[in-house]
Amino acid sequence: MRALVRETAPLLAEDLIMPYFVVETREKGFMREIPSMPGQFQLGLDALEKRVDSTPGLTTVLLFGLPADKDEKASGAYAEDGIIQQAVRRLKALRPDLLVITDVCLCEYMSHGHCGILTPEGIVLNDATLPLIAQTALSHARAGADMVAPSDMMDGRIAAIRASLDANAFTQTPILSYAVKYASAFYGPFREAAESAPACGDRKSYQMDPGNAREALIEARADIAEGADALIVKPGGPYADVLCRVRRIVDVPLCAYQVSGEYAMLRAAGLKGWIDERAVMLESLLCLKRAGADMIITYYAEELLREKLTR
Ligand SMILES: [Zn+2]
Repeated sequence: MRALVRETAPLLAEDLIMPYFVVETREKGFMREIPSMPGQFQLGLDALEKRVDSTPGLTTVLLFGLPADKDEKASGAYAEDGIIQQAVRRLKALRPDLLVITDVCLCEYMSHGHCGILTPEGIVLNDATLPLIAQTALSHARAGADMVAPSDMMDGRIAAIRASLDANAFTQTPILSYAVKYASAFYGPFREAAESAPACGDRKSYQMDPGNAREALIEARADIAEGADALIVKPGGPYADVLCRVRRIVDVPLCAYQVSGEYAMLRAAGLKGWIDERAVMLESLLCLKRAGADMIITYYAEELLREKLTR
């Protein structure tokens, strides 16, 4: 009876997107645990292949790159043989059915760690950054990415990426936009994982104020108007109200990102024995679905699939 009247379906394997941090290294089998995210790793290419291969039911991954070198033009972001481009080719060769989404941003490739080009005074140049973002997305599509996910938050990036993909015969490659991305302290562990903390300043000039919810609706509508095919709300749990509000006004698929800080809190409390981690984790993901998420990016995806906790 309970199942009959249940409003929100339990988690499905295909709801889940597993994020991976891929490191450009010559070291064979490279795998380094992220101290603030126990159970999560920075992976070399061969270790990445191994993990994907050993996770039955894994349908979708989201790749973040850690290049060997950084510079002030983020060259590694759009290099033909960049770390993401290599990872996409390898994963698509290994598992052609795997849906590979790539994070499109410049911060991990910039020596200063910001998401765009900086003036000597440290100001991010929105319009000058757009061609590099578009070039990065195009190079990912060329490598075989099924979907690109721009996370930079520059104004006009969706239109720039769409134009560049369309002009190069990638009209079918969808854009999953980080439309609603807050300047959140919940990203702390991610910056350690992706080694992408800004060397100076912060990202508050281009990410959203946690106190604002209506602004999220403006961002969501703007990204759809520019050609986004699906939207991300980030972080997930603490912003479930925003997710719910966005759900009411858009018809495209919505994705919640249960971010590094959310994972770190659940994991830490779980390791301490203070909560039933598995139960709380499943509940936290169900709540995101209830709030309106069609898909969820979560660091728990691998574990859920390995332990057959999805339908
Ligand atoms: Zn960035």
